[in-house]
Amino acid sequence: MAEPDTLAKLLHRMMVLERGHVWLAGAGPGDPGLLTIHALSGLAQADVVVHDALVDQRVLALAQHARLEFAGKRGGKPSATQADISKRLVELAHAGERVLRLKGGDPFVFGRGGEEAMTLAAAGVPFRVIPGVTSGLAALAAAAIPATMRGVNRAVIFAAGYGADEANVDWGALARTGEPIILYMPMHHLQTIADALMHGGASPQTPAAIIASATTSEERVLLSTLEHVAADAQASEMEPPAIVVIGEIVTLRNRLRGSDMGAPR
Ligand code: SAH
Repeated sequence: MAEPDTLAKLLHRMMVLERGHVWLAGAGPGDPGLLTIHALSGLAQADVVVHDALVDQRVLALAQHARLEFAGKRGGKPSATQADISKRLVELAHAGERVLRLKGGDPFVFGRGGEEAMTLAAAGVPFRVIPGVTSGLAALAAAAIPATMRGVNRAVIFAAGYGADEANVDWGALARTGEPIILYMPMHHLQTIADALMHGGASPQTPAAIIASATTSEERVLLSTLEHVAADAQASEMEPPAIVVIGEIVTLRNRLRGSDMGAPR
């Protein structure tokens, strides 16, 4: 097989993770095949991998000699605060470790990577940000739903469902764009969000899909409509992590299914 040689050659020429430096990297949605080569190289070079709950075990298993430190936050349970996590990264870097900070998906998409980068910058710790395949896009690919399609949409909205009860997103304004909405952390407030979108003028019949644990062996896809999506999610016991997508693009799945679309496995 040619691939291992190619990968080995590529990894050999990768940038060096220096002592006292931090790579703030995305681990992708789950499937290790969706890691970037930079993240893989970080896993090979790191002394310590500080990871979230969302980082797949198959990805962590690729660490070569690093110790693993869990620094995630699991919904509801007491765990490290964001300030603690950022402080820990600074501490490890100051101790001269090669630090890979690994976050699910992309570190700068609803992952609080921004805050961590700011703390590192403020502390004068050299760091590099390595993007990852964000779950919003990977989940759509896994479910054979194109995020954009000529003739259907020329824009797409990423929004966070978490905190939706605090009315910090103008859902009515988003609904009025008519563009598809990809919701991260949608489960807690799905009914509230759906109501707000319909109140803003979105049709109750707008197609919707829930994609849970995309690119893992637990992956599940549920098709619904805006008015029923919250109830259907509950009835089918869809568990987080999940992405909800609302918009006409969801119907394209029917035309693609059966062919070998979806993200590569
Ligand atoms: N930085 C991450 C998002 C962190 S917020 C990224 O870019 O993907 C956490 C949310 O991401 C979850 O609540 C869920 O909405 C989504 N998510 C992460 N992994 C997922 C997966 N494998 N399948 C579906 N949704 C996922």
